[in-house]
Amino acid sequence: MDFSLSDDERMVQEMVRDFAQTELKPQAPTLDREHRMNLDNLTKMAELGLMGMNIPETYGGSETGVIPYSLAMTEVGRACAATAVTMSVTNMVAEVICTFGTEAQKRKYIPPLCSGEYFAGSFGLTESTAGSDLGGMKTSAIKEGDYYRLNGSKIFITSAEYAGVIIVWAVTNRKIQRTRRISAFLVEKDTPGLSIGKAEEKMGQRGSATNEVILEDCLVPAENLLGSEGDGFRIALMALDGGRIGIGSMAIGIGLEAIDYARDYARERMQFNQPIASFQAIQWQLADTYAELQSAQLMVLMAASLKQQKKPFTKEASMGKLLASESANRACYHAVQILGGNGYIAEYPVERLYRDARVTTIYEGTSEIQRLVIARHILGAF
Ligand SMILES: Cc1cc2nc3c(=O)[nH]c(=O)nc-3n(C[C@H](O)[C@H](O)[C@H](O)COP(=O)(O)OP(=O)(O)OC[C@H]3O[C@@H](n4cnc5c(N)ncnc54)[C@H](O)[C@@H]3O)c2cc1C
Repeated sequence: MDFSLSDDERMVQEMVRDFAQTELKPQAPTLDREHRMNLDNLTKMAELGLMGMNIPETYGGSETGVIPYSLAMTEVGRACAATAVTMSVTNMVAEVICTFGTEAQKRKYIPPLCSGEYFAGSFGLTESTAGSDLGGMKTSAIKEGDYYRLNGSKIFITSAEYAGVIIVWAVTNRKIQRTRRISAFLVEKDTPGLSIGKAEEKMGQRGSATNEVILEDCLVPAENLLGSEGDGFRIALMALDGGRIGIGSMAIGIGLEAIDYARDYARERMQFNQPIASFQAIQWQLADTYAELQSAQLMVLMAASLKQQKKPFTKEASMGKLLASESANRACYHAVQILGGNGYIAEYPVERLYRDARVTTIYEGTSEIQRLVIARHILGAF
């Protein structure tokens, strides 16, 4: 077993680190304070090939692979989590279309996602009655000739206000079993009947927009159905498996950034005539945090490696996302603790990182849902 990165993987990691540290990191506090995304950053990232990392070059992707994608997400997560989540969802949308789309859908929607012509893609799954339980979905799609008429609303949709295309899940047949009721549609941003609601005020990742999406007699061409009617549930679960690699990788980046800052601070901060790093209480917090983050990263990379080899990776992606998001939150907790009062003050970055890390145990499936997925794989039918 060889844990070292290939030359290509290291090259991508270094290229993204350089970009993220010089371009994204200096802007992160301002974007957080002003609650806004810098769309120029998204364009630059598309130019670097970061918006379609698992997409073949034929469709405009950079085809760098899943491990480089994970490494890139960690680097962007370190620098600016709000930008990282936008990158993660856009990659996920492009991949869903690439996996389930017709040739015409792939040619129409993937190149603008990868090139930056669309600033982002959005993933419209969650509703007020359907969060962890997709079966509670109420948005409907009724076939009328060459169109589907969509009615309903989605909440918490990342990037919706600047996305070029939104994948919208809706119930196409209420009378059949829950897992076959739902279908997925490609809805372009200017489709009549589609409107984007207000951006939510959030605890963290404030630079990313999180909007309501409203569908009122929104007529979507039947050719924009992804896969077949009833495939929506399967498409969502497969997309989320990949998405969990992205969010897990980002969470590791947030945790590492916080604890690296705390480590450097502990070397400098003098109390009782010595650096606080000399106290065992501080050393153990650092040791536990690095051990946890590094093992979580290995798990996420294992999921990425399985995905890259086209092997099943659902359980490993859930394990990686669970460990990464929970350990990132603990890392930020310890970073704040090590900084003492300064940790709580916005002038120091760990305050923002703590807020940014919090949502990683919630979206793309909560920690409880990850445990449910893992337990199902371990227990099987009984
Ligand atoms: C900033 C942000 C961005 C988001 N972006 C998107 C996006 O782009 N697209 C999108 O579709 N959604 C998005 N979401 C929604 C997110 O995926 C959901 O919030 C998440 O899946 C949880 O659903 P919920 O909020 O309805 O919580 P609920 O499902 O109501 O869960 C509440 C609590 O109950 C627990 N729970 C629920 N069911 C079970 C169970 N069976 N066993 C044990 N515990 C359970 C949960 O773990 C949680 O602790 C975003 C959310 C946020 C906050």
